[in-house]
Amino acid sequence: MEGKGILVSERENHRSRRNRSITINSPVEDKILWAEEIFQDTDFTHLAEELEKLKEAIERSRTVMNEKGIFKACSECGDKSCCGEGIEQRFDATILILNLLLGVKLPHKREIKHGCFFLSNRGCKLKVREIICINYLCKKIYEEVEIDDIIEVQRICGEEIDLIFRLSEEIKRKIKEGARK
Ligand code: SF4
Ligand code: SF4
Repeated sequence: MEGKGILVSERENHRSRRNRSITINSPVEDKILWAEEIFQDTDFTHLAEELEKLKEAIERSRTVMNEKGIFKACSECGDKSCCGEGIEQRFDATILILNLLLGVKLPHKREIKHGCFFLSNRGCKLKVREIICINYLCKKIYEEVEIDDIIEVQRICGEEIDLIFRLSEEIKRKIKEGARK
């Protein structure tokens, strides 16, 4: 949906050194360059406390996914992983800014042929993943993992998703505020 992602026109994005503009449909490589410019040009220090909470929430999500056997099931997928090429095109660029804020170095080329742009041999390169990546559990998981465990995973991951949503909205607000100056 066009309006759901960040749309930065050249007028709004005049603070950007190269006046790059993106939409939700822009190639992921452009979104990465845009996110890196915004990250360099914008003061996000007011988000420090919420970012710390996000780090902790991500850790809790990972712990519960590990404990309930989701990681084991996913690691057995190998080439059949659901992290396929093209999924990254649906990503909102604020997710990339969140990753930069948590110290992730974003890739500039695809490592795995036919895999998601952010996939490596060791798994996902992102700390902050899109909601679809966090939420998605395939049929195999529903068959292999107890339903109570799945509900527990979804409850814990829900805290991570709430924080990502709040932080993304704040990042968009900050970018718009910068563009008005
Ligand atoms: S969610 Fe399912 S298809 Fe995707 S990596 Fe995990 S087990 Fe494999
Ligand atoms: S961002 Fe990470 S979890 Fe999401 S599809 Fe790509 S590699 Fe998989």
